[in-house]
Amino acid sequence: MRPSRHLALSAGVGVGVWAITGEPWSIPVTLGAGVLVDIDHAPDLWWTFALRRKPTATFLLHGWEWLGAAIAFGVWFGFPWWLLALIVGHGFHLVTDHIFNGGLTFSYSLIYRASQGFQMARVAPGWDFDYAFKVFKKEMPPAAWLIEWWVKRSGSSDCEARPEAHKAEERLDVQR
Ligand SMILES: [Zn+2]
Repeated sequence: MRPSRHLALSAGVGVGVWAITGEPWSIPVTLGAGVLVDIDHAPDLWWTFALRRKPTATFLLHGWEWLGAAIAFGVWFGFPWWLLALIVGHGFHLVTDHIFNGGLTFSYSLIYRASQGFQMARVAPGWDFDYAFKVFKKEMPPAAWLIEWWVKRSGSSDCEARPEAHKAEERLDVQR
């Protein structure tokens, strides 16, 4: 899901956590956990759009495993307000990404992505290079400008990623 929507959702959910815990700091912590998770897209975005390499899907913070580990930690040691805020922020981020980004059932499992070699074409067969960059540019203009500047500077017009993106689409057709 887009960062702007994560921001709005996390703020709302953070107020809910504050209501439950009575700790006002629950709002920024929930907001941070719900929005900053997307920082882990940076290496993939640079690799794919700036270096024009085969699209990867590492995004290491996007993993049900982290959520499971945090809940297990809470069950064992209790749920202080900050842990609850982290779990709720991160959990809502993953659930909404899973619903709205249209990947496969296990796309947001770190172990599954590793088993697929962190290849975008395998993890999210419908992923579209052009559309993804359009959304990225709208949501993060300075980062997109930086990438475009880099591409221009390096004079790279041969786009290795494009055929991969199309291959990913073909894959989707095969699966249908
Ligand atoms: Zn995300």
